[in-house]
Amino acid sequence: MDALSIPRPAWMTEELVLLEDQARRFIGAEFAPHLDRWSEEGMYPREVWSKAGAAGLLCPAIPEDYGGAGGSFAHEAVIGRELSFAGFDTFGAGLHSGIVAPYILHYGTEEQKRRWLPKMATGELVGAIAMSEPGTGSDLQGVRTTARKSGNGYVLNGSKTFITNGQHANLIVVVAKTDPAAGAKGVSLMVVETDNAAGFRRGRKLKKMGLDSADTSELFFDDVKLPPENLLGTEEGQGFVQLMKDLPRERLIVVVHAQAMIERALALTVPYVKERKAFGKPIMDFQNTQFVLAECKSEATIARVFHDHCIERYLNGALDTVTASMAKYWITDLQGKIIDRCVQLFGGYGYMEEFPISRMYRDARVMRIYAGSNEIMKVIIARSL
Ligand SMILES: Cc1cc2nc3c(=O)[nH]c(=O)nc-3n(C[C@H](O)[C@H](O)[C@H](O)COP(=O)(O)OP(=O)(O)OC[C@H]3O[C@@H](n4cnc5c(N)ncnc54)[C@H](O)[C@@H]3O)c2cc1C
Repeated sequence: MDALSIPRPAWMTEELVLLEDQARRFIGAEFAPHLDRWSEEGMYPREVWSKAGAAGLLCPAIPEDYGGAGGSFAHEAVIGRELSFAGFDTFGAGLHSGIVAPYILHYGTEEQKRRWLPKMATGELVGAIAMSEPGTGSDLQGVRTTARKSGNGYVLNGSKTFITNGQHANLIVVVAKTDPAAGAKGVSLMVVETDNAAGFRRGRKLKKMGLDSADTSELFFDDVKLPPENLLGTEEGQGFVQLMKDLPRERLIVVVHAQAMIERALALTVPYVKERKAFGKPIMDFQNTQFVLAECKSEATIARVFHDHCIERYLNGALDTVTASMAKYWITDLQGKIIDRCVQLFGGYGYMEEFPISRMYRDARVMRIYAGSNEIMKVIIARSL
């Protein structure tokens, strides 16, 4: 997918080019033929996770000692881009590999890493992160889920909503209060292994505007007993700090997907407008089409340069939260604008489900809302002024 024709960025090494090619071929052969069916069924079959694990698409940045591929964020970015180019931006692998696994890698004890990470890399465990609740999204300090001490373990109570991978996940990092009176300092991350967890229940797979094949769900925890070793790390009250430290990478994952969707939208639209005729000539021959696409290509290229800059800074350990927030807000906003303009150039066909641009339009909307809404990004950026 080369909609922008810009030179290969410095972070994209020869090894990553090979990975890109492998991922593209695997996704094209194993996943792409089923895309429409999975969208209609509203969910990926469970074996997609095992297949992705076997193909090395899961946990590419987790060290080999813990079952991963020993790569870096660049490996995740390459795989994430290929999934998005092929229309699999709904597959929660980015969250599993890029958010849940790193929490365990960065904050887990040695025992926790050895227990969970190898199974996440194979897809035996599917990860989820459960922060949002019916009454709390942006304001995470308001979570009401509690993990109260009981003996030397915990009892977890609460309900979560909008949870990506919610139907398949069997390793769920739950944001809970171990000390409800202590505000942010009372928040801890509790890891729930859901297989045979008494008191754990999956609620509805939520009907959504887009992301048809994503199993975004409600989850309920009623007196779920957890042993002390299911507190992530060794110390209670660290949850908020752990969440904050990992924010730049989480935002960068969204940026990578948004940029890939921008490039995919252009790669779909340019050939279409060259083919489709009106008033005896290709739509591309109208100056309006040329100007709209010239603007889209320029803005997409600017976004790509910022995207690559953020990846490089992250790989050098120098991506700060404010820069990551700027990229998340600006590139997801741009994604919405560019896909909207592309739909317009497709005319009525752009509104038809059988044309991928139509699904992309629906899927794009949430990117401005989740992973920290774009308003919250601006709050963070404004604090740096
Ligand atoms: C498809 C999907 C998948 C998701 N996956 C997950 C997941 O895996 N795990 C998880 O925990 N959550 C997940 N979420 C939840 C998502 O992170 C929240 O929806 C998001 O954080 C916003 O929270 P909210 O919905 O409660 O909105 P609210 O916090 O109620 O916000 C409503 C509006 O108010 C604005 N607002 C809020 N605070 C401020 C402020 N201080 N200044 C200015 N404006 C403000 C918001 O930007 C928004 O426009 C998912 C959501 C969706 C839709």
